[in-house]
Amino acid sequence: MLTTLRRIVLEFSQNSDLQSALLRMVTQVKSAMDTDCCSVYLADYQNQHFILTASDGLAEKSFGQTTVGFAEGLVGLVGQREEPIKIADAKNHPHFIHAPEVEEEELVAFLGAPIIHQRKVLGVLTIQQKISRGFNEDEEAFLVTLSVQLATAIANAEARGVLGKQQDNGKWLKQLQGIAGAPGIALGPMITIQPKADLRSVSLEKLDVSSDQTIQIELFENAVEETRADFRQMSIKLSDIIQDDSLTIFEFYKQLLEPANLGHEILDKIHQGWNAQSALKLVIDHYIVKFEALDDPYLRERVTDIRDLGNRLLFNLQQQSQLNTQFPDQFILVAEDVTASMLAEYQHKGLQAIVSFCGSNNSHAAILARALDLPAIMGIESIPLGQLNNQVAIVDGYSGELFIAPHQNLKNEYQLLIQEELTLTKKVREVTHLPTMTQDGRSIQLLLNAGLSLGFEHSKHSGATGIGLYRTEILFMNRSCFPTEQEQTNLYKEVLEAFPQQAVTMRTLDVGGDKSLPYFPIGEDNPFLGWRGIRITLDHPEIFLVQVRAMIRASYQTNNLEIMLPMISNVMEVDESIRLINQAYFELSSEFFLDDGQVLSRPKIGIMLEVPSVIFQLEELAQRVDFFSVGSNDLTQYLLAVDRNNPRVADLYDSYHPAVLRALNTIAQESAKHLVPLSLCGELASEPAGALLLLAMGYDKLSMNPHNIPKIKWVIRHIDYQRSKIILSHALSFATAKQVHSYLNEQLEQLGLGGFVRAGM
Ligand code: PEP
Ligand code: MG
Repeated sequence: MLTTLRRIVLEFSQNSDLQSALLRMVTQVKSAMDTDCCSVYLADYQNQHFILTASDGLAEKSFGQTTVGFAEGLVGLVGQREEPIKIADAKNHPHFIHAPEVEEEELVAFLGAPIIHQRKVLGVLTIQQKISRGFNEDEEAFLVTLSVQLATAIANAEARGVLGKQQDNGKWLKQLQGIAGAPGIALGPMITIQPKADLRSVSLEKLDVSSDQTIQIELFENAVEETRADFRQMSIKLSDIIQDDSLTIFEFYKQLLEPANLGHEILDKIHQGWNAQSALKLVIDHYIVKFEALDDPYLRERVTDIRDLGNRLLFNLQQQSQLNTQFPDQFILVAEDVTASMLAEYQHKGLQAIVSFCGSNNSHAAILARALDLPAIMGIESIPLGQLNNQVAIVDGYSGELFIAPHQNLKNEYQLLIQEELTLTKKVREVTHLPTMTQDGRSIQLLLNAGLSLGFEHSKHSGATGIGLYRTEILFMNRSCFPTEQEQTNLYKEVLEAFPQQAVTMRTLDVGGDKSLPYFPIGEDNPFLGWRGIRITLDHPEIFLVQVRAMIRASYQTNNLEIMLPMISNVMEVDESIRLINQAYFELSSEFFLDDGQVLSRPKIGIMLEVPSVIFQLEELAQRVDFFSVGSNDLTQYLLAVDRNNPRVADLYDSYHPAVLRALNTIAQESAKHLVPLSLCGELASEPAGALLLLAMGYDKLSMNPHNIPKIKWVIRHIDYQRSKIILSHALSFATAKQVHSYLNEQLEQLGLGGFVRAGM
């Protein structure tokens, strides 16, 4: 049965046309279950009814015509109850309704299962039989399992199908719902970017008859040349470090690339009509299967090399297609998985907004989008990228809606909102250089989160009083090996010198989770619960020590460095990190010739509070470090057991969950008791309601991206500390996050600050 089920689902998802996929599926189910009829009804929410879309057993003329209201008939009952229903004699059931055109007179027994995707009923799958009988448990289980598996495929196929349809005026409007990743609105053409080079994600495509094969051949030959050049570079770089014969691997790669080996097979496939990427995938997959079946363990190991070579070739092929992409002056970037490095690459090239199929509102790509003031939609339903390329769209980063090929009226409405946003931004900039003080005289420091993008000239003028979080990961990304101590020193020096009078808190490398390094792959089932942040760097003191040395060297003249440790979950990690920092500091002190009698200063050391265990050990931690900084992004994820990067559970990720708010409040009280300076550098600090609550809890500093500083300063300057404390005590008393949100929104509206949390003033 499992094989039948798999085959039905696989064939369904491989068929690009929804109607014919459904027709094939009903016939297969009818035969697999040995019944007289199988039908599928799809929900039409606009008209509040189900439409009979495909059937093997009911009259063909009724497909697309016969409808059943959401509250009508047996199909409506299955949809309403959201559970399977089996009826031996359907005709005598009180909900049965007669629709003569479907010609179901002879069908007596009924079994229906709802098709549900993300809590939404997409349709109903039914089987019917001429004899009156009760369907058994196994049949019911089969139909339920099938509809669960079909749900995602139907959701994706519907998205594709509607996108393909033309409306009367030759334009189509499609609204897709994603997760609001970064606030703001953008209107412009979409440019799609291919997923990262992984042959597994290439879908096979043949060229249409009119396409020119010579272009594909040229693309492939250029990619081979580029790949050869990469290998030359790599072996030159590594030959200084590696003297043994491990470098022969590059020779093996180069040989494989020769026309006599893989090369000609790929060209053959192109001649058979495949595009270059598909030809590459077909040949590499063939070799992988062949090598995996070999007895010789040495040769079997070569599978990894072949896959690696394939991905490198693919990367260079994709680079070429990217080179051929015409970028308009302003555009919306759409990709399967928008990465931080893509944002870094396009931010100065007219990038207006991002749309990512993967990720959620606290993925690092979304955080970076907010830092760059770019509206973002994350976790949107996946549709073929090709269909979106060059289409005009509206990105509503407040609601997470994407409108494709919008009508003029909608464009006008959004143009108006964009104007209102600009006015609001201009207004809040007026307070940039004024103190961050409430109306009744309570001050709080606003600091910068930096490091996600290189170059932060504008940040110096944001009105912040220092850097509260400098993320060091970007320097380690987009390269082919770890940066040297000197490279790191140069960059850190620039950062420290940009804020010579103010403290700069640099965080040690926090990779793992959703941040990976191309030259240091970490494959784990649960990356956020795995080898991440301090866990990696303590296991690799050589990486940690080089980074800390670079930081301390860079601070030699400015003396404004503070070092912060990410992902701390126990006291031993703190002790070990401090030991290594001391080692680096003492080594450097003896290496440095301080001619003017100046001493190299030892930086303050702090930790991020982002793993719940530390909340219960604040006393021991306070004895060891100089400051605490709450990473509310991770604290929320770990406290609520919700992967911050997973769009499926995005609804559950909420920093206003009463448990998170109470944890934040406890941290503030305990830190004050132990006299440890406390800041918060997660995204919560840059939200008006979040900043208000944190101020009331007693946080000393809030750290956020530069674009949010004027907004939060404006908010703080327009509230009263005493009132914020009353708001906090109410907020802490609610049982659900929903109650907290509606209460806080109401309070912000009353304070005249509603324009900061929705589109429009
Ligand atoms: C956090 O977890 O809140 C934080 C600031 O760090 P990051 O988002 O880089 O994990
Ligand atoms: Mg974190």
